[in-house]
Amino acid sequence: MVQLLAAEGIRDAQVLGAMGAVDRHHFVDGALVPQAYEDTALPIGLGQTISKPSVVARMAELLMQGGLRGEGGRLGRVLDIGTGCGYQALVLGQLASEVYSIERLRELHEKARANLRPLRVANVHLILGDGMAGFAKGAPYAGIIAAAGGEAVPEAWIEQLAYGGRIVAPIVHGPSQQALVVVDKSRQGIQQTILETVNFVPLKSGIA
Ligand code: SAH
Repeated sequence: MVQLLAAEGIRDAQVLGAMGAVDRHHFVDGALVPQAYEDTALPIGLGQTISKPSVVARMAELLMQGGLRGEGGRLGRVLDIGTGCGYQALVLGQLASEVYSIERLRELHEKARANLRPLRVANVHLILGDGMAGFAKGAPYAGIIAAAGGEAVPEAWIEQLAYGGRIVAPIVHGPSQQALVVVDKSRQGIQQTILETVNFVPLKSGIA
């Protein structure tokens, strides 16, 4: 899978290392295990999906390029919106000092907890809550990443982002389409860049 990602243009050695270090087959149901290392999104229940590896890697790379790297080239605290099965949170755990990962669906939050428990990762914190409001307790964040797309980047995320930090998220862009957006925050202001078309589940409000 790492070779495939490198062939698809992922260059960041830390990101490739993180993708190689996390076993994706731990995060999908038995019948889907044979497909775990294909570059495809897979169902994880409740109509949600584990993202395509190339998209996880692309977004992690964009986050790493954001600039706020600390010791050993690692990111500081990162907020992950939409834990799902916990796969991306674990990948980010390899790249950041702390990861706060928030999920609005109790059942998936519990599933991610069960997936991560045997791995004993100390720096990935799972939260049940509405990620539209961010997670103020962990702020300010070096990076914020979302696996669900809304109409725009919520104001709370921008507020909770550190100066010099970056948000990478899908947003609705054009009729029934989404695009990846990068938001960079500096003392001079906010810069938003729209990138390629993507296909994520919708960002929804409230806990269910
Ligand atoms: N990163 C996940 C992808 C899961 S799909 C993985 O690696 O498996 C995106 C997830 O975002 C879904 O589980 C969905 O329930 C969740 N989601 C949607 N809106 C949300 C919100 N407002 N707050 C938190 N999670 C949300």
